[in-house]
Amino acid sequence: MSYFKDLSPYRYRDGIDRAVNVGWLSLKNPLFPRGNTCSNAVEELKKLASSPSWRTRGYFMCPFCIFRRSKPALVNFEATKIVLGSAELIVISPDGSKFIAPDLVIHYIERHSYKPPQVFLEALKSS
Ligand SMILES: [Zn+2]
Repeated sequence: MSYFKDLSPYRYRDGIDRAVNVGWLSLKNPLFPRGNTCSNAVEELKKLASSPSWRTRGYFMCPFCIFRRSKPALVNFEATKIVLGSAELIVISPDGSKFIAPDLVIHYIERHSYKPPQVFLEALKSS
């Protein structure tokens, strides 16, 4: 999966205005921000991931787990499991700015202590 710096302009798809990247991590940039993320934010992301905006072909594996597993990452949500690595999530803040994250961001938060930018978490809270 491509690496994009957090809050850099999103250019992966055409026609998406005022969007920035969140959570596009890569092994080439392993020193991502770490910390605790409140469980409400994680639940909100899981809800988005249960009906994602965009699906991609195939599955991206977590680059930090890839040597330990050959299957896509899973997360539990309500009574089901969500398979991660084939979708993007959009979070829109009240001012209309958009944050676009791979659904693997949930796994990065839960398993690798990735700490998304505060503005993203605030947009998530008010979405
Ligand atoms: Zn992982």
